Amino acid sequence: MDPTARKYTLEAGKIGRLALEYAQSLIEPGALLLDVAEKTEQFIRDNGGFPSFPLNLSINNEAAHYTPIPGDKKVFRTGDLVKVDIGAHVEGYISDNAATVEVGNTGKYSDLIQCSRDALNAALKVLRPGIEINRIGAAIGHVIESYGFKPVKNLGGHGIKQYDLHSTIFIPNYDDGNQRRIEQQQLIAIEPFASTGIGLIHNGPGGNIYIYSGTKKTKGDPVVDNFNTLPFAERWLAKIMPEYKDYLRRGLFMKQISHFAVLREHKGAMISQAEHTILFDGDTVTVTTA
Ligand code: MN
Ligand code: MN
Repeated sequence: MDPTARKYTLEAGKIGRLALEYAQSLIEPGALLLDVAEKTEQFIRDNGGFPSFPLNLSINNEAAHYTPIPGDKKVFRTGDLVKVDIGAHVEGYISDNAATVEVGNTGKYSDLIQCSRDALNAALKVLRPGIEINRIGAAIGHVIESYGFKPVKNLGGHGIKQYDLHSTIFIPNYDDGNQRRIEQQQLIAIEPFASTGIGLIHNGPGGNIYIYSGTKKTKGDPVVDNFNTLPFAERWLAKIMPEYKDYLRRGLFMKQISHFAVLREHKGAMISQAEHTILFDGDTVTVTTA
């Protein structure tokens, strides 16, 4: 890998890791999700990076993609199971990492939380240059099932490229039979999701996260100029233009902007997640968010 790209990738990893720890330290009963999100994203900017996507704070049966709206009044409640997912980028070189916390730490979900952590560690242990993708999934699925939970099958890790958070490859949370190998120069995120439900998520309502989806990057477009092709929050847009709601409505209609839905299990199911970003570079395999 080009030494500069490698340097930025490792820097982004370090900042992303610190931001994840910082976000977790802010979560307590009664705290506003909005405050945690704004403070964590500012922490990333203060540390020399930019958020590679809005802080995701997804609660209980939500697996991913909730971020607060401007003026959001939602607060954490004791017993909420929160997936905290954040990353940083430096010049478009991205990190992506996540952890699960239980608000108030009553210990009710400690097995479920430990399960996705252990699954992630088991996946990291089998990594070597050129590993088959399904062997990573098998390591994850095995651990999750040993706890008596279900791996989420239609959600998982992914390839990452410069300014591209979800590039083509998919890293499953079970053995899906895909024997394609990880390439010599490849950045990936591995993210086990463990569920007390059926292990399938579906699209819920919009999660206040958007992404530019036009075919051409148009200079002078506020989204392209500020967020490039990375996901952005309605909150972020509100800070750069007063008429952000009209702008979003028009962008969605013209298909220049896409909306991420909140990803959910069925009601009553609980989900935990853990995630790291890993750089495969020649003979080396490095967890950038360790
Ligand atoms: Mn993530
Ligand atoms: Mn990810």
